[in-house]
Amino acid sequence: MTALCTSCGKRPAQFLRRSSGERLCLNCLFRSIEERVRRTIREERMIEPGDRVAVAISGGKDSLVLLDVLGRLKSKGFLKDVALEAFTINEGHPYSCFYRMSRADFVKGLAERYGIAYSVYNFKEVFGYSALEVAERLWKNGVDVHMCAVDGVLRRKAMNIIGKRRGWTKIATAHNLDDEAQTVLLNVLMGNLRRFAWLGLEDADEKDLVMRIKPLKYVREEEIAVYAHYHGIPLMELECPYVYTNPRYGLKFMLAELEAKMPNVKYNLVSFGRRLGEMMQGQGAAYGRCKYCGSPSSREVCRACELFEKAGLLDGYLRAISGYLKPDATSLVQ
Ligand SMILES: [Zn+2]
Ligand SMILES: [Zn+2]
Repeated sequence: MTALCTSCGKRPAQFLRRSSGERLCLNCLFRSIEERVRRTIREERMIEPGDRVAVAISGGKDSLVLLDVLGRLKSKGFLKDVALEAFTINEGHPYSCFYRMSRADFVKGLAERYGIAYSVYNFKEVFGYSALEVAERLWKNGVDVHMCAVDGVLRRKAMNIIGKRRGWTKIATAHNLDDEAQTVLLNVLMGNLRRFAWLGLEDADEKDLVMRIKPLKYVREEEIAVYAHYHGIPLMELECPYVYTNPRYGLKFMLAELEAKMPNVKYNLVSFGRRLGEMMQGQGAAYGRCKYCGSPSSREVCRACELFEKAGLLDGYLRAISGYLKPDATSLVQ
């Protein structure tokens, strides 16, 4: 005999939530994911009336699930007086073009279902150069840097620039419980105490940055995968080819081992990081501004400007971003 769902007691259980011992039917599992996101947003005051929230879509299942859940919450009247939109950044190299852009039609359809506008922004429009052009110049100049490091630094920069231009107050990213637990553990292991002060970032406005929110930070990756599967969201994950060189890769397995003995370890790590961030609010405060672009940075030259400088493309890039930020600029990409 099949066991019944421990939540509704009506339908057969199909999913065992190890951290709590609950056996859930799919209905109750999906409802609890939605409820978890709603609670995270409310308790951490992630989104408030008047906010303009942009959902970052990488093309991976997590970002599509985030869009779906936020769309549902909005259609149920939870995100009232909040403007929601979705966007993808196309870095501009063969890998990102294939990976991110192969999903563009699917994302568009999903966003339309909830009346959410979806836009694609290209590095080339924002910076004047694609990621590949920057990387090739860096390599030519003998700078040893991975494509994905260039992507990562420039993507964060691009999000702030685009957000400023579009008037976004928050950018929602799809980091889940597993990602966040890894981040906290990595920062602890590396002794990066200051990184925790950034996690709160409530004074993002003053820092001239668009605040990042992570509504899925308490949802486990496996639950997101089940949600995606049953909601027709494509599961094809193309991992970055450099994933094996990333220190996070080992942490993933370490955390899985720990979790077998301590079912709540990931949740504990994430809430520890959050509380530490709150305690450190305003303490890492000695941020100056980048001497080239004027953005808040703990260094004299921010990482993005540093890359362009080493690539010998600083002037063109600074011209491009200041042009992009002008309100009358016509380079807005749809
Ligand atoms: Zn149930
Ligand atoms: Zn800079």
